[in-house]
Amino acid sequence: MRYFSTRDARQEWPVTLDAALSAGLAADGGLYVPERLPAFNIDDFEGCQSLPEVAELLLTPFFAGSSLAPKLGEICREALDLPVPIVEIENGRSWLLELFHGPTAAFKDFAARFLAACLARLRTRDDPLRTVLVATSGDTGGAVAAAFHRRPGFQVVILYPDGRVSARQAHQLGAFGDNVHAFKVDGSFDDCQRVVKQLLGDRQLASRYALTSANSISLGRLLPQMAYYAYAALKLARDRGPGTRDPGDQFAAPTLIIPTGNLGNALAAVLVREMGLPLGDVHFATNANPTLSEFFGGANYRGRPSIATLANAMDVGDPSNFERLAWFFRDRDLRASGIHAHRVDDARIRARIAEGERDYHQIWCPHTACAVEILAQLRQHGDGAPMLLVATAHPAKFDDVVEPLIGHAVDVPPALAALLARPAQVETLPATAEALTARLQQGW
Ligand SMILES: *Cc1c(COP(=O)(O)O)cnc(C)c1O
Repeated sequence: MRYFSTRDARQEWPVTLDAALSAGLAADGGLYVPERLPAFNIDDFEGCQSLPEVAELLLTPFFAGSSLAPKLGEICREALDLPVPIVEIENGRSWLLELFHGPTAAFKDFAARFLAACLARLRTRDDPLRTVLVATSGDTGGAVAAAFHRRPGFQVVILYPDGRVSARQAHQLGAFGDNVHAFKVDGSFDDCQRVVKQLLGDRQLASRYALTSANSISLGRLLPQMAYYAYAALKLARDRGPGTRDPGDQFAAPTLIIPTGNLGNALAAVLVREMGLPLGDVHFATNANPTLSEFFGGANYRGRPSIATLANAMDVGDPSNFERLAWFFRDRDLRASGIHAHRVDDARIRARIAEGERDYHQIWCPHTACAVEILAQLRQHGDGAPMLLVATAHPAKFDDVVEPLIGHAVDVPPALAALLARPAQVETLPATAEALTARLQQGW
């Protein structure tokens, strides 16, 4: 399989998967995309039960020709062997795909671990120390840090917006130490992302520090995220019968509702449906940031500065992966492709969290609460389709928001508790490429 930049319109500059994984961002500033999507149906997955098994089969065409191809099974078993419970929340009609059972209690663990497993195997013995640069709105940084922590040959540099992540997220980011360096930036997530992109785009710097990105723009994160959607689609189809795409069919392919900001996770779901697995319409549940709901409501795309909300990991005003989504649909009308976007404001997030135990016997993080709000709205409008919601983080990561609303403490999962028990170390950084460059030069 060959890969192109989204900005290489005439497809003149193919790169290998290995090169695309190592580079993160394409040299022309675009995002790497595969030349085509393979086609699958349920029967192809006969005998594949676990997530690593489904992942290996699904990703095999994407790894064709890569030096990693013979190691794909091993990579999937190492990185993706995490629990992925599918919990029923409405009787036989809707389910929650819980993606928060990894070491940092958010879905980003899957992709970060997969990327790390790939990059570690692409490394040769005399490669220089690689610097993984990551801008985070809270959860990416922790997941990437956990995935690369103490991996020989790598250091991680995390930038996060000061005051815009939860206290536990901030603590977690500073709690790794060793080869992980955390910086709180005076600015927004968009500022952090801009600084990271500037450094990656500077060829001299990028090669001097062997820079790579681990943001959701990285192909190495998009690919593994497809695996759990394929797994969930297969599991529901096997448990309930394959159904059709007709929402009137009781066993119809489930509609997806995905909390999203930068469109990394949600794009993976759209692609799995495009590859032929039984998934229905995809609803993006965003927070108050209006860019996506406005576009899918018919307006022109207009990126803008992000707004701070309770669902802070989705505080994105100009989703990076929109460029990829648009590329995949370049010959079709994106707005007529079974994709929808809805905005949920902080008041509705609060209400959903407060009513979660009463209505669904569940405690949600603020991001997951956005998806639940959209479920309730769709039901109110008479949509009876089976629905699969994605739970993106454990509520204990957002205890400062959740606990006052539900009136009691949330149990902390053991892996998160272990990190929170460690001391945290964070440096302050102005939101400029110059400041980060100077800090890199200073070294550790
Ligand atoms: C990152 C994150 C999101 C948004 O994911 P995107 O890939 O940016 O759409 C949602 N919820 C949580 C908890 C996250 O950490």
